[in-house]
Amino acid sequence: MIIEPRIRGFICLTAHPAGCAAHVRQEIDVVRAGGPIEGPKRVLVLGCSGGYGLASRIVAAFGCGAATVGVSFEKPPAETKTATAGWYNNLAFEREAAAAGLKAVTLDGDAFSDEMKARTVEAIRDLVGQVDMVVYSMAAPVRTDPRTGETHRSAIKPLGAPVQVKTLNTDKGEVYETELQPATDAESAATVKVMGGEDWELWIDALQRGGVLADGFTTLAYTYIGSELTWPIYWKATLGKAKEDLDRAAGAIRKAHGDNAARVVSLKAVVTQASSAIPVVPLYGVVLFKVMKEQGLHEGCIEQIDRLFRTRLAPGADPALDNAGRIRMDDWELSTPVQDEVKRRWPLVTTQTLGELADLPAFRSDFLKIFGFGLSGVDYAADLDPRELPPEPSSQA
Ligand code: NAD
Repeated sequence: MIIEPRIRGFICLTAHPAGCAAHVRQEIDVVRAGGPIEGPKRVLVLGCSGGYGLASRIVAAFGCGAATVGVSFEKPPAETKTATAGWYNNLAFEREAAAAGLKAVTLDGDAFSDEMKARTVEAIRDLVGQVDMVVYSMAAPVRTDPRTGETHRSAIKPLGAPVQVKTLNTDKGEVYETELQPATDAESAATVKVMGGEDWELWIDALQRGGVLADGFTTLAYTYIGSELTWPIYWKATLGKAKEDLDRAAGAIRKAHGDNAARVVSLKAVVTQASSAIPVVPLYGVVLFKVMKEQGLHEGCIEQIDRLFRTRLAPGADPALDNAGRIRMDDWELSTPVQDEVKRRWPLVTTQTLGELADLPAFRSDFLKIFGFGLSGVDYAADLDPRELPPEPSSQA
C-alpha cells in the first residue's frame, strides 16, 4: 500500500515504516557526530519507542555503547493497516543496533502491569545480567493499578478554578481563547496515579527483587516544568501535581538506594505525541521554537538527551542540580533572553501574526516526522507492506 498521513486532531492514524526508520537513523547520526560518551553500559528504557525515551535509548546505545532493554506499548500492523510509529521505531532501532554490534531487546506490552515487570526482569537476566541505568520515560493516558485492579484515567485540567487560555488549532493555524474547567479532586488524584511516581517506584522494587539492578545504579524520570505561560495547564495543574509526585518518588528511591540513585530530569518542550495533546503547549511551542532558533538555542529530543548524557551525567560532570535535586535540561528554554522574548510575543500572537511571531511550519513538520512523514531520502510513492520494515536504502542499491 502507499502510505500517507491521516491526521485527526493531534494524532496521525498512519505511520510510514521507511520514514520511521529514516527518523531513527537521523537521531543516531546526531549522536555519532558528537563522538563517544562515557556512560552506562547496560540500560533499561521504559517508554522506549518515541520522543524522549527513544532518544535516551539511542544516546545510551550509540553514544555510550550500551546494551539496551526497551519497553513500550505499541500497536502492531495488519495487512492493510500500518502499525503505530513506535512499533516501526523499535524495529528500526533493533536493526541499527544489530548492525553496530550492540545488544538490544524490546518488549511490547503494558509497563504498568506486574507481568511486564516480571518479563523485563527475565529479559535483563538473559541479555546482560543487570542494568546500570533505568530511564523512566512513560507518557500514558491510563493506568490499571496492579494492586487494586482499578483503572485510572489522567485528566489534563487546571486546578481550583476555570482558566482562560490562549491556544492553537495546529491543523487550521488558528489562535483562539478558550476556558478550561478545573479538575475534580478525583480527576486530580487519578492523574497522579497515572503520571506520578508510584509506578516508577514499583519498577525499581521489582528490578531490585529480581536481582537485576547493578550496585551503584542510577534511575532517571523525566518531567516538564516550563514557563509561567503554560503553568495554568501544566505545572500548577493536574499534570504538575503528578510531576511533583515524581520528585517525592525520587526522594524515596534515593533514601532506599543512595544519594545518586534517582534523579528527576526537567526537559524542554518538544513536539511529541504526548505534548501535542496538551492545550496551550502547541502555541507556546511554536513561539518558543522560533525564539530559540533565532537565538541559536533550539534543540529536539535527541539534542536534549545527548547534552544530558555528555554534560550532566558523564563521570566528573557537574549535574547542576536545582534546589529540589533535579537535573535541569530546560535551562536554555527558561533562560531570561528566551523567556523575555516569548513573553513579549505572547500577547501579540494571533492567527494573523502567527507567521511572523511563531514557527508553525516547523511544528507541523516535526509532528509529521514523529510518524515517519517528510523525511528526506524516503520514497513516499513506494508500494509497501505495512507489516515489515523495508530494507535500508543502502542495502537496496
Ligand atoms: P511519547 O508519547 O513520545 O512516548 C511515550 C512512551 O510511553 C512511548 O514509548 C509509549 O509506547 C510508552 N507507553 C505509553 N503507555 C505505556 C504503557 N502502558 N506501557 C508501556 N509503555 C507505554 O512521550 P514523550 O513526550 O517523549 O514523554 C516522555 C516523558 O518525557 C514524559 O514523562 C513527559 O512528561 C516528559 N517530558 C516531555 C516533554 C515534551 O515536551 N514532550 C517535555 C518534558 C518532559
